[in-house]
Amino acid sequence: MRTTSTWQSSARPAWAGLLAAGLLLAGQAWAAVTMQFVFVAPSATIEAAFPGATHFEGLATGYKGVEITAANRATFRAQAPANMLRTYDVLQSGQALRRRVDQVTQINGGKTDEIYLLVDDRTGLTNNGIFSTSSIGGKTAVWPAASVAPATGDRYRGVIRLGELASGQIQGRPGGWLAWEGTILHETFHTQFVGEKTKWGSISIVYGGDGDHYVSELMAEQELPLEEGLGTFFGQMHNTPAGWEDLNRFWSRNDVRYLIESRSFLAGTAEMWNAPHTEERRSLSELPPEQRTGSYVWRRYRWWDVPGWYLLFSESTSTGFHMYFWRQVNDNQDEALAMINTALGGLWQERRKRYLTNEINRLALEMERFAGTAEGRAAQSAGRLTSSMFPFALLDILTHYGMTEQQYRQDYDRNYPDRQPRAYAEYWNHRQAVRSLVEPMLRGSPIRMRDAVVAAAQYFQRPNTILAATP
Ligand SMILES: [Zn+2]
Repeated sequence: MRTTSTWQSSARPAWAGLLAAGLLLAGQAWAAVTMQFVFVAPSATIEAAFPGATHFEGLATGYKGVEITAANRATFRAQAPANMLRTYDVLQSGQALRRRVDQVTQINGGKTDEIYLLVDDRTGLTNNGIFSTSSIGGKTAVWPAASVAPATGDRYRGVIRLGELASGQIQGRPGGWLAWEGTILHETFHTQFVGEKTKWGSISIVYGGDGDHYVSELMAEQELPLEEGLGTFFGQMHNTPAGWEDLNRFWSRNDVRYLIESRSFLAGTAEMWNAPHTEERRSLSELPPEQRTGSYVWRRYRWWDVPGWYLLFSESTSTGFHMYFWRQVNDNQDEALAMINTALGGLWQERRKRYLTNEINRLALEMERFAGTAEGRAAQSAGRLTSSMFPFALLDILTHYGMTEQQYRQDYDRNYPDRQPRAYAEYWNHRQAVRSLVEPMLRGSPIRMRDAVVAAAQYFQRPNTILAATP
């Protein structure tokens, strides 16, 4: 399945400077984030319904936009198609989605001001303009995408593109409307990780020949898959219970669920490309016109057949890691989510920090800090405090213990962490015991991933595994 969205590379849009007014402050106690909503529709619609207003141009041929304000909100409500109207409503203060958005936009300390473009694309686009597009019902439709670029001072500008047709299509997924809200969260999250998004400077190198990324595709690096998987984590977390069910369905599959395109970086890595696989010929029409020569194949792999380290190149590993962490840690999803958001504070600014092993370092430090607090001790007395060794074990489980200790340490150490949690020294003394406990659950078909994660989490709630930072 194609993932819910695309990260779109874009320079600061020329029209961003026009968007000055209309401040809406989110969460007074938090860093203030400006949120603006722009209704985009065929030019004739905008000109007729919003005469005299400042119109945004340069979006796509034949389309214009207008910022939705208190003064023209009634007109917007009369003009907007159903999905864009509802999208606008659920992004307003007091709504459940808006509370999630407000949390997500604090990941980088509230440094990104957001513009949501709500596009009436029912008649289709004639060119892409600033949008990513997809063909829906024979129309060129706006596909959900986000971009983030430096603005003034130390602030950033996020632009999130949402369209009527894609909203309708995505509501066909499990969870219905909540699947669409999850997509909005996914895109909003993309505006938090700033600067370089990839080590290659090109998403088409990361994603391979067809330029699309898929949930279980093994891509050309770890960094952007980590980010994509995180976006999907926020979406799945919100899309309850469909997201959780979808996650467990994926991780229980013992079929050839991973894929690599022959026009992709890892096709040049024999250890990965030649691992046991099936192969299918694909149509050259899936590739850009200038690349339609020779042969084009996809190889598919079972989880067990992907060498462990390469699983870090799939966004599904990032999503699984965060979903299972969130569900299990401290038996408290609010505490677990707060830990994730804190850990991401060490990753948002610098692409070179966007490795799961580096995030594990930040999570373990945070878990040990928490364990040393009064709250942490209370959680321990209640038997629900989770050891800072758990995230190390969780990654081992999701990579079927396919990394040697040396490989695991190498990936972790090359992130040059500035501090070490106690867990990093201690985990290796527990590794084999937990592996013996969970491996029988992973060996069957279906794979009992959820049971394995729960068993490991319970192991790491035992008092003798708890490591607290010394205050
Ligand atoms: Zn994305």
